[in-house]
Amino acid sequence: MSGDPCDACETEVSIGGGIAGIWSSNRGTGGMTLEFDDGSDFFLCFDCIEALPEEPSPADVAALAED
Ligand SMILES: [Zn+2]
Repeated sequence: MSGDPCDACETEVSIGGGIAGIWSSNRGTGGMTLEFDDGSDFFLCFDCIEALPEEPSPADVAALAED
């Protein structure tokens, strides 16, 4: 129903339900929004999320986007 481009790789991903349920049932949802302590947020597909380190920083996301 709705979709957004991934902020890193620009792949169009579909958005399912709320963020709370994504990790337990991520089928049908292609990505999620990461929010950082500095107030920035990025919508990323799961491929990009999996490429991030366990505790990603905005710089890690920026590095993905530049690849
Ligand atoms: Zn991506």
